[in-house]
Amino acid sequence: MKTTIYYAELAPFRELFRHGRPVLCYHKVVRKPLRARVRSTFIPPRLFAAQMAELRADGFRTVGPDACLEGGGGKEVVLTFDDGSASVQRSASPVLARHGFTAINYLVSDLLGGINRWDTDLGEVPDRLMDEAEIREWLAAGHQIGAHTRTHPVLTEIPAARAREEIAGSKKALEDRFGFAVKHFCYPYGEVSPAVRDMVAEAGFETAVTTVPGIARAGVDPFLIPRLGARGHSLNFRNVLRSLTGGRPGFSSEDVRGLHPAA
Ligand SMILES: [Zn+2]
Repeated sequence: MKTTIYYAELAPFRELFRHGRPVLCYHKVVRKPLRARVRSTFIPPRLFAAQMAELRADGFRTVGPDACLEGGGGKEVVLTFDDGSASVQRSASPVLARHGFTAINYLVSDLLGGINRWDTDLGEVPDRLMDEAEIREWLAAGHQIGAHTRTHPVLTEIPAARAREEIAGSKKALEDRFGFAVKHFCYPYGEVSPAVRDMVAEAGFETAVTTVPGIARAGVDPFLIPRLGARGHSLNFRNVLRSLTGGRPGFSSEDVRGLHPAA
């Protein structure tokens, strides 16, 4: 259930993106600290800016997650940020504004203005999360917010009653604080079961995003929207080898073909 194929540049994905709406998943827009444990949740601001410029130059426009429920697509991308990192308001927001792009940030409602406690408990580097004033700036720039539970638990591993409270409680807390309906949800760690999916639907959300790799095609389950994790090129052995042999680093066309349905 973890994203294994990462978006780093448009070229290998151009054909796939014609068949629906890509939903790109970002976390922190900041250079990876040396001690960071989960590399894939960091993207340097300059690389994020390059990815946005490339999408814009190719004619993409941004839409919200609800657009995934419509048919068609093509040249529409959904930009999502998980966790509400303050680095997004600081470093991504100006880039998005430059291109006329909008995005959604999924917030952990008990931790606004705090830090990523669910990560630091496991030894990850602390990251400051947007406080209320920063979230209001984010909203004023035309962006959206969604709910990402109250405390970022693995919803499939806690008792059902607690999972329900994490899901519905985060919706209510954000609605009470900001005064409008919060319609979109994001599963922490991408972990979802049929029961958890139904809890999200019953809580009154309209969409939910996962970390299942893929793009949102016509007829997608609105509570199981696939995404592509976005970051820089991975420096694994295959990529190093490919760059040494003159090939393009990043994803092979086979990787991307694997995202097409077998039929
Ligand atoms: Zn998260």
